[in-house]
Amino acid sequence: MTTRRDFLTQTTAAGIWALNAGTSSGGSKAAHAGVVQTVLGPLDASKLGFTLTHEHICRSSLNVFGDRANAVAKAVDKLKEARDAGVETVVDVTPFDVERDIRFGEEISRKSGMQIVACTGQHFFAPASFNERTVEEITETFIREIEQGIEDTDIKAGVIKVAARSGTMTPAEEKVFRAAARASKATGIPVQTHTNSSERGGEAQAAIFEAEGLNPARVSLGHSNDTDDMDYLTDLARRGYTLGMDHAFWGLDPGATLPWQRRVECIKQLVDAGFVERLFLSNDWVLGDVERDKVNPDGLLYTTRKTIPYLKQIGVSQRDIRAIKVENPKRFFSRSCGGGDGQGRKARRDQGR
Ligand SMILES: [Zn+2]
Repeated sequence: MTTRRDFLTQTTAAGIWALNAGTSSGGSKAAHAGVVQTVLGPLDASKLGFTLTHEHICRSSLNVFGDRANAVAKAVDKLKEARDAGVETVVDVTPFDVERDIRFGEEISRKSGMQIVACTGQHFFAPASFNERTVEEITETFIREIEQGIEDTDIKAGVIKVAARSGTMTPAEEKVFRAAARASKATGIPVQTHTNSSERGGEAQAAIFEAEGLNPARVSLGHSNDTDDMDYLTDLARRGYTLGMDHAFWGLDPGATLPWQRRVECIKQLVDAGFVERLFLSNDWVLGDVERDKVNPDGLLYTTRKTIPYLKQIGVSQRDIRAIKVENPKRFFSRSCGGGDGQGRKARRDQGR
């Protein structure tokens, strides 16, 4: 998402970060493989069902909706619509510096019946002073939100979201990506990224993850259908990365260079090339983004109303569509074996070197 930051939000974000930046105590509870943390608690991964993997709904956007009750009502409406269309889980990739409001997420999940997975991590809107933090400090904060809770709740993150603006990583972004890799290895929680695919940004991200020894199977590179460069996409899929094909409707934007149909056709090409297990579907919809809703009135439903019907029309099988919308998220968001259970503490000790 590309919402402009304002001073108030940055101040709030800084406050939240300061709250979280205390020492992480370790002492993690056992991490259960096959379990996904949602805003309403742990869920067996087999119950995720049809999952939209990259959306922004855990934000109260009070400036748009007037008051919180109104924001809750609007969000619950949208989520119920999506449930009626068959969506069972939404992964929310809104970290602290893009107006995350975890209690809002908990409330709208409870009232709509939509399962929501929340994230820790960092977008690129954090105050500049954050760039002075060490990789170890950032890692600690991510692990804290995974093992203890987000903001001052016990609601735990089920995914780590990190973002880089371009094809080249800034030093600050590189630290955040290294921290994501270390937190993922320590806890078994997967990583999702914001990627500038038109600049082949996934390559620089992959280089950092691989230098940190993170298994590519634990990483999804978001916004991968902002490009139709099949050499770039197939290379990353072959290396084991999951490609977030979450920008179909972004092709409706007047400034977009790739039309939405082309963005969906890339999914078919990847399926045909044997990479059905390396794909996610989503919208990168932003609750309260009024301008965006004018471009795409279908919002969160674009996947079910446009993307999936078009995939069927161009010959992607029902079975492959099910793999992308159900089986891939089930495998990816399950907490992996080898993380947690005290290994987080060991990893944190090792980072002290
Ligand atoms: Zn996003």
